[in-house]
Amino acid sequence: RTVYVNGDYLPEDQAKVSIFDRGFLFADGVYEVTSVLDGKLIDFAGHAKRLQRSMDELDMTAAIDMDELLEIHRELVRVNDITDGLIYLQVTRGAADRDFLYPAEDTPPTVVLFTQAKPGLADSPMAETGMKVVTIPDRRWGRRDIKTVQLLYPSMGKMEAKAQGADDAWMVEEGAVTEGTSNNAYIVKDGVIVTRHLGEEILHGITRKAVLAFAREAQMKVDERAFTVEEALAADEAFVTSASSFVMPVVSIDGQQIGTGTPGKTVARLREIYLEEMRKAAV
Ligand code: PLP
Repeated sequence: RTVYVNGDYLPEDQAKVSIFDRGFLFADGVYEVTSVLDGKLIDFAGHAKRLQRSMDELDMTAAIDMDELLEIHRELVRVNDITDGLIYLQVTRGAADRDFLYPAEDTPPTVVLFTQAKPGLADSPMAETGMKVVTIPDRRWGRRDIKTVQLLYPSMGKMEAKAQGADDAWMVEEGAVTEGTSNNAYIVKDGVIVTRHLGEEILHGITRKAVLAFAREAQMKVDERAFTVEEALAADEAFVTSASSFVMPVVSIDGQQIGTGTPGKTVARLREIYLEEMRKAAV
């Protein structure tokens, strides 16, 4: 695989980052994951905009040229011959002698990109069977709207889910579901799609934004508000969204079946609309 690091395209075993990198020492970095379908990028503009926002919120002042970033994404897709897959992008505050204070503003950032081939990414069998989730307390920090590389708690959550024989975990704070470990969470009750409102408590999903817009265009009712685990258990349908899973049904929560225990109509329709429209708009 060819990867990108700080201006160079290199075989992955030759790519190097300093042990003093602040991403490594302080998780002082932000990232994006963009999906590739039929060799094209899904919603690159959305990811570029959120990357800039994450950097701004952390006072990461390095200038990232988004047109150049698009070209790097495309070049990696080309040289690695990716039809369906993901592109991971990480920007950190760069390497500097270990100090909690940020280094000088002219410290070059570390910019790394690599591809992951995922043949059949849009035809995951899970879209037919649905996924099982368990609930866990949300013990992350308070700025979840910034897409930082501090993913240890979500990683622990996925391990806990696996230990319980489930596919993922939904995180709960003050009785309400915030989001999944790597996706936004939704329920459908009496035809209304409910998902937590935007704020510092959740990541502002790129897929969430597009899916809610498509839902409203299709005259579906959307309510952006916090919902409880009890409400979720009594819902007709449940699902998650993310750049890598698109729209994915959830059929059980904490071992309790949701609705009929099979993927519902709303989620199936949203997945279909999302994939169709986003393929058309792909770059
Ligand atoms: N919420 C969290 C915590 C995530 O990590 C992710 C994606 O990685 C999402 C939501 C979904 O965001 P997006 O649709 O932009 O991939």
